[in-house]
Amino acid sequence: MAYPQGSRAPLEFGGPLGAAALMVLLPATMFHLLLVARSGPARLLGPPPYLPGPDVLWSPRVLLLWLAWLGLQAALYLLPARKVAEGLELKDKSRLRYPINGFQALVLTALLVGLAVSAGLPLGALPEMLVPLAFAATLTALIFSFLLYLKALGVPPSALAPGGTSGNPIYDFFLGRELNPRICSFDFKYFCELRPGLIGWVLINLALLIQEAELRGSPSLAMWLVNGFQLLYVGDALWHEEAVLTTMDITHDGFGFMLAFGDLAWVPFTYSLQAQFLLHHPQPLGLPMASAICLINALGYYIFRRANSQKNTFRKNPSDPRVAGLETIPTATGRQLLVSGWWGMVRHPNYLGDLIMALAWSLPCGVSHLLPYFYFLYFTALLVHREARDEQQCLQKYGLAWQEYCRRVPYRILPYVY
Ligand code: NDP
Repeated sequence: MAYPQGSRAPLEFGGPLGAAALMVLLPATMFHLLLVARSGPARLLGPPPYLPGPDVLWSPRVLLLWLAWLGLQAALYLLPARKVAEGLELKDKSRLRYPINGFQALVLTALLVGLAVSAGLPLGALPEMLVPLAFAATLTALIFSFLLYLKALGVPPSALAPGGTSGNPIYDFFLGRELNPRICSFDFKYFCELRPGLIGWVLINLALLIQEAELRGSPSLAMWLVNGFQLLYVGDALWHEEAVLTTMDITHDGFGFMLAFGDLAWVPFTYSLQAQFLLHHPQPLGLPMASAICLINALGYYIFRRANSQKNTFRKNPSDPRVAGLETIPTATGRQLLVSGWWGMVRHPNYLGDLIMALAWSLPCGVSHLLPYFYFLYFTALLVHREARDEQQCLQKYGLAWQEYCRRVPYRILPYVY
C-alpha cells in the first residue's frame, strides 16, 4: 500500500495510476456488459459484438429522460420525512441531519410509474434505451464529480474526507475530496447512495419483465425470481435507510467519481444484468429448482439482515435487551466490539449473507453462460477488497482491541475458508 507525501492516510486502489485505470475500466466494463448481454453468444470474456458509435450512445431525448428521473428523485427526497436522523459526529464535533424517506420515495415512484403505465407509458421500450441511458448517467457522473471537486476547493480542512486529500488531483478526483457535500440541507452523497441508482435498478428490471411479457406472452419464472429477489434487496436497503449513515461510504469516503459513477451508473446498469440476460436468453426453470433457489436467497437474506440489524442495534444502544447478553471486547475509544452472536462467527457475516444472495440472483439464469455470474464474481472481489479496507480502518481505530478481535474471530467472511 502506498502512502501519500505528508499524510498518514494510505493511498488505496493502487494510487493515482490505479484510480486513472479504474475511471476508464469501470465505464468500459459497464458498456461491455450492456452490449454483450443482448448479443447471441453472450460471452463475458471476449470482444463486444460491436463498438457503439456516437449515434448509439448520444441521444438528447434520453439525456432529458435521465435528468427528469434525477429531478423526480430529488423532489421525492425533499418531501417531508417520517423521521430525520442524525449522522455520526464529524471532525468539528457537529452532526448532520438526514431525511429518512427513501422507502417512501420507492413507494411513490411505484405509484407514479403504475399511473403512467396505465395511462399508456411504454415502459417496455426502456430496455432499448439502456446504452444511451448508461452513457447519459456516466456523463452526468463525470460532470458532477468535476463540480464536486471544484466545490471541495473552497471548504475548510475539517470538511474533507480522510482519503481524498493526497494532493494528487487524479486520485482525489476519483476518491472524492469533500466528505459530505451539501447545498443547504440537500446532501448529494446521501441522496445518490440509495435513490436514483437503486430505485432505477428495480425500474429497469421491471421494464425488462414487461418487455419479456410483450415478446413471449408472459414473464418467465426466472425473470420473476430475479425481479422479486432484487426488489426485496432494494426495498430492504431503503426500509433500513438509516443504517447507511454508519457505512464507510458515508463516514469515510469522500464524494468523487468512484461513488458518483458507482451510485448513478454502475448500480442500475450492471446490477440489472441478470434480467437483461434473461430477456435475450430465456432459460427454462422448473419449480423444484426455483424453490431451491428461493431457499438459498432466503438463507442469504436471513444472515445479511440479522447480522446488519444486530450490529446496528448494538451501535445505537448496547444495553438493548436484544444484544445486551452478547460478549464484547472493550476498546480504548470507549466503544465495544461484539465477539459473539453473528459477529463472533466471522468478522463480516453481513458480507457472507450478501454473497449468498448474489449467487441466488445468478442461478435462475442457468449454467450455460458465465455472464449472469458476473455480479457474483465482481461482488466477491468488491467485498474482499472492502473487507480489507474496513479492517485497516478498524485497526487504526481500535488498535490492540481489533487485534484481539481478529485472534478470537479468525475468519473474515466464510467460516473455516476465508
Ligand atoms: P459494515 O456494515 O460491515 O460495517 C463495518 C463496520 O462495522 C466497521 O467499520 C466497524 O465500525 C463495525 N464493526 C466491525 N466489526 C464489529 C464488531 N465485531 N462489533 C461491532 N461493530 C463492528 O460495512 P459496509 O458499509 O461495508 O456494509 C454495509 C452493508 O452493505 C453490508 O451488508 C454489505 O454487504 C452491503 N454492501 C452492499 C454493496 C452493494 O453494492 N450491493 C456494496 C457495499 C456494501 P464502527 O466500530 O465504527 O461501528
